Amino acid sequence: MSNESIQVQGIMKRYGSLLAVEDVSFNVGQGEFVSLLGPSGCGKTTTLRMIAGFVDPSGGVLRVHGRDVTHLPPEKRELGFVFQNYALWPHMTVAENVAFGLKLRKKSRNFIRDKVAESLSTTGLSGYEDRLPRQLSGGQQQRVALARALALEPQVLLMDEPLSNLDRALRVTMRRELKELQARMKMTTLYVTHDQEEALSMSNRVVIMNKGRVEQVAAPYELYENPATSFVADFVGITNFLEGIVAGADGERLAVKLVSGQVLRAVNKKPVAPGTKVRALIRPERVTLKTGRIDGDNVLTGQVILSEYFGALLRYSMRLDSGDILRAEVHNFDSVIENGTRVWICALPEHVRVIAHEKGV
Ligand code: ADP
Ligand code: MG
Repeated sequence: MSNESIQVQGIMKRYGSLLAVEDVSFNVGQGEFVSLLGPSGCGKTTTLRMIAGFVDPSGGVLRVHGRDVTHLPPEKRELGFVFQNYALWPHMTVAENVAFGLKLRKKSRNFIRDKVAESLSTTGLSGYEDRLPRQLSGGQQQRVALARALALEPQVLLMDEPLSNLDRALRVTMRRELKELQARMKMTTLYVTHDQEEALSMSNRVVIMNKGRVEQVAAPYELYENPATSFVADFVGITNFLEGIVAGADGERLAVKLVSGQVLRAVNKKPVAPGTKVRALIRPERVTLKTGRIDGDNVLTGQVILSEYFGALLRYSMRLDSGDILRAEVHNFDSVIENGTRVWICALPEHVRVIAHEKGV
């Protein structure tokens, strides 16, 4: 048997003429936390619901612990779920809500009592047994939904935007609690979100989806530092794109001739052949900005056109002499550069990536 808890192979879903999910493949390893991340409508929920068994795939194969479950009903898949609207029974107490699934499975009274106590303790809800959902905060209700899923001891937990109904402060706290719990219980988790911070901070690996397809599957650091496509570079974080063509290549080291004629030195893990039309990518936090001359490689010049102050962070927009707009983020600053000021900008070659133009672009 393979070490993969979930295997998704070429799964698709057609709704009439709409291909909601088109050829999606990825695996989730034992104990791994994997997120599906992408914009609204890209097919995350449909993918998760196919894995859960609530939506019948139009094609492809789904395996859980090596077993083909593609056409099994949800209750035969040994998966747990937590959905966006936690849908607690409003007239049942916390303990009754958590016990509900166990009763359906005809577990003994003692077993249910112990399991409910254990799940509530795990989720920090001991003492709330007799409350009704409306007597709880949003975060506590969310934890009841989690306790209810955990009580069934799923080998694999599927979650669809479980934190998106909470306010920001609570979301950040719950994110940590959930991740901590998942790691402690070594629970295989597939997590759907459109929130990149959530996906980056919680996951071992992230599956980036766009229009029903997978753009990239990688660890968070890898996604951000070495995005495979323009979509990933743009969707995860903020990035600057400069159009050019590869003028020279020496292994990972590339020279990119920009449309402006200037040459940028870049370092790219993936080899790119000379003559390839590319986009050079520079993250705003990698940009060095000076109001005096800088000499050396990768120096661009321009003018500040906008500064946005966020307290700990200053974000500048600059119009380069080439006409391109470039953004820079500065964290340690003593003053703000005024609009209209002439600036010298540079980025180290190892902070410049390239993405070959995708076909049809
Ligand atoms: P996400 O969760 O990424 O926001 P969804 O998986 O919910 O996206 O939806 C993907 C696409 O499929 C959307 O265009 C959506 O409108 C469509 N869709 C989802 N469910 C159905 C359905 N039951 N019938 C028809 N179209 C659907
Ligand atoms: Mg969704």
